[in-house]
Amino acid sequence: MQRYQLYIDGAFCDGSGQFPSIDPSTAQPWAMMPEAKEDDVNRAVAAAKRAFDTPDWAGMTATARGKLLMRLADLLAENAQKLAQIETRDTGKIIRETSAQIAYVADYYRYYAGLADKIEGAHLPIDKPDMEVWLRREPIGVVAAVVPWNSQLFLSAVKLGPALAAGCTVVLKASEEGPAPLLEFARIFDQAGFPKGVLNVITGFGATCGAPLTSHPDVAHVAFTGGPDTARHIVRGSAENLASVSLELGGKSPFIVFEDADLDSAANAQVAGIFAATGQSCVAGSRLVVQNSIKEAFLERLKAKAEAIVIGQPDNMATEVGPLCSARQRNHATDLIARSCDAGARVITGGTAPSGNGFYFKPTIIDCSDAPDAPCLTEEFFGPVLSVVGFDTEEDAVRIANDTAFGLASGVFTRDLTRAHRMIRRIQAGIVWVNTYRAVSPIAPFGGHGLSGHGREGGLQAALDYTTVKTVWLRV
Ligand code: NAD
Repeated sequence: MQRYQLYIDGAFCDGSGQFPSIDPSTAQPWAMMPEAKEDDVNRAVAAAKRAFDTPDWAGMTATARGKLLMRLADLLAENAQKLAQIETRDTGKIIRETSAQIAYVADYYRYYAGLADKIEGAHLPIDKPDMEVWLRREPIGVVAAVVPWNSQLFLSAVKLGPALAAGCTVVLKASEEGPAPLLEFARIFDQAGFPKGVLNVITGFGATCGAPLTSHPDVAHVAFTGGPDTARHIVRGSAENLASVSLELGGKSPFIVFEDADLDSAANAQVAGIFAATGQSCVAGSRLVVQNSIKEAFLERLKAKAEAIVIGQPDNMATEVGPLCSARQRNHATDLIARSCDAGARVITGGTAPSGNGFYFKPTIIDCSDAPDAPCLTEEFFGPVLSVVGFDTEEDAVRIANDTAFGLASGVFTRDLTRAHRMIRRIQAGIVWVNTYRAVSPIAPFGGHGLSGHGREGGLQAALDYTTVKTVWLRV
């Protein structure tokens, strides 16, 4: 069985323990993962702290940092196939998606490579003739980056890219579920030529690895992606080190379809918007809010498309939906559907796990129009479940769309651009996609508010968030 190691201070090493990683398509262990506990966390943070201060890194020009990031991007592109295969094996995410995602992961590193020497300070025109005053932008310090199991290469790229471009050093904690892609990424990072300790990659469990890392006194900033409950632990832990914290959390994103929309395009976007990544995506368009005049016709299209989806082995290029990442996720799906049906919701298609091995769950559409309290409308669920609510007026659509504690993403499908503008103004979410869904670019910031967290990843601002401003006064 394959064995992975932690990556600390430029070397690969064992952790305090080990745990098996399960192949979600067979429910069998396939590799042994190193388990980092407090001692390993301390070693990793110490290495990052040393690296932050060494001339090799602290004295490196921003242009040189950018070149290293560019080299990393090239290495990722060269190793794309291997990384995609490992992510597919360890998390069950289908090979079509892991292969496509690596390409834009490399693009994120390229974007931040180019940005490294464009992080500028400023000169201030102070009203004192004998003073020069300026602002230096300096790296914030040691960053703790913590990611969940889905899309770990992408979710770490949006943290590492800007953090390294800004000159920070990082301890990256992979999820305990499917950590292999990041441990494999460490091997590639090691070849890029960064000084030792600039990046340290560890994995382990939340309480024994994540908590000591995020509350560590030498951590200056915590960049977290995960669930709201974990975020609360992290924010409480930050009372210890007073680190700044950015939070990218979950969503219950509305996908709003008006009767004048291009229904073919909307149906395709909705199917991809909820069933891609087997629904394990923070921006999944998991609440269809559809105008009642077209609801039945639209649901018929969706049902036909959902039932035509090829469910299969994640490493097969023909597969369109693979297994969920863990038994926990599959059991949660079964439980959520049962509780929602008890509340009056009606399953239109799916709703069960197919027979056989692996953590599979059928693409599911569930109509909650007569069940406003159905838990599938409010609870974030990371799986292939689309909840449906009908509406009559634009006002209703806004009310239903905003009836959530989350505020991450949203979609609006209409041919009426005036209406689209009204919806853009009124929807409470960090992203509004109009007549498209799930489009991403390194240039466009990404994030939410409410239970979806705060802070933005992607774009120029994300790099500035890894800096601190030093005000300099010089008497001349
Ligand atoms: P999770 O919060 O359980 O775990 C995320 C990470 O936090 C893991 O690495 C885990 O080990 C670690 N962790 C757990 N307890 C911790 C603690 N006390 N202190 C520090 N770290 C701790 O999330 P999950 O179930 O793995 O992932 C699913 C969640 O992630 C969903 O809510 C999803 O919406 C969210 N997500 C958000 C985005 C986004 O960009 N907004 C992207 C993907 C996933």
